[in-house]
Amino acid sequence: MPDEFSLIKRYFSACGVAGSDTLLGVGDDCALLAPPAGEALAVTTDTLLAGVHFPHDSPAGLIAQRALAVNLSDLAAMGASPRWFQLALTMPEADQAWLAEFSAGLNAMACEFNCALVGGDTTRGPLTISLTLMGTVPSGQALKRSGAKPGDSLFVTGSLGDGAGGLAVLEASLSASAEDSIYLKERFWQPRARVAEGLAIRSFASAAIDISDGLLADLGHIAEASQVGAVVAVAQLPLSGALRRSAGLERGLNWALTGGDDYELCFTVPADKVAQCQQLIADGVLTATAIGQIIQGEGVRCVDQQGSPFEISSSGYTHF
Ligand code: ADP
Ligand code: MG
Repeated sequence: MPDEFSLIKRYFSACGVAGSDTLLGVGDDCALLAPPAGEALAVTTDTLLAGVHFPHDSPAGLIAQRALAVNLSDLAAMGASPRWFQLALTMPEADQAWLAEFSAGLNAMACEFNCALVGGDTTRGPLTISLTLMGTVPSGQALKRSGAKPGDSLFVTGSLGDGAGGLAVLEASLSASAEDSIYLKERFWQPRARVAEGLAIRSFASAAIDISDGLLADLGHIAEASQVGAVVAVAQLPLSGALRRSAGLERGLNWALTGGDDYELCFTVPADKVAQCQQLIADGVLTATAIGQIIQGEGVRCVDQQGSPFEISSSGYTHF
């Protein structure tokens, strides 16, 4: 069996795209990075544990892509451009076939999003993948959770509830047609980090967050950080055809509100910038839907088409 250093060299020394802003990548005591002048470094870490964040015995390439996607999603939510990442990999054994598949999956997505693996750590133990992603955003332009104001409109990208639907298909608690199963499972495994959307809304959005724990929970973070309330018009929530067909409207809406793993962006737009946002949507540059309003007060309320309170059964995933 090759030692740790030859494993790193073989599988992790040329992953993704290293630009001239990477002065030194994998192989020394530290990586040396050169963020562009005038830009802030945006840094985020997310850890995926086998049996908690993905089923045991999941395909290695998909685990890699999911790990990268959930971290890219955090950069997207700040309006940052991905540049570099580090990988802390803990695995029970050095399985060459597994590592080959894992690094191929990681490389494909890293190339797509134009970032490079520049270092990490490799240890033995229960399978755990921890990634630290670094991106850059022009100083003062990052999208924070704290910028929403009463009167702002509320938008989400893409469609909601598919992540929870995909996990339910994987766990065989939801049955769907072959075609819908493929779509939903892909939405779980390879969520599309909304990096381009984060860049597109950066100039006019007042606040943003990526939806990892369900819209209600994550919008709640915007409300709290911004010291405002939010009203969600449930009938406007974007559900995919696959989710509607397989889960039905009621379960679909519940997953859209409280299911995790969607990795869409939820963002707020001041009234005088809404036309600019709607224009991007009309031009097909941005896939997003208006779903409600920011108001004075606190907390998140859901209303139905008549404006009456909409009841839901649970709110979001928390680890503890
Ligand atoms: P050190 O003991 O100096 O921390 P390591 O032996 O942990 O260094 O790692 C050697 C080099 O390989 C370092 O550049 C480190 O960043 C890199 N590295 C280790 N594990 C990984 C990994 N899983 N992916 C990418 N780079 C890694
Ligand atoms: Mg060292």
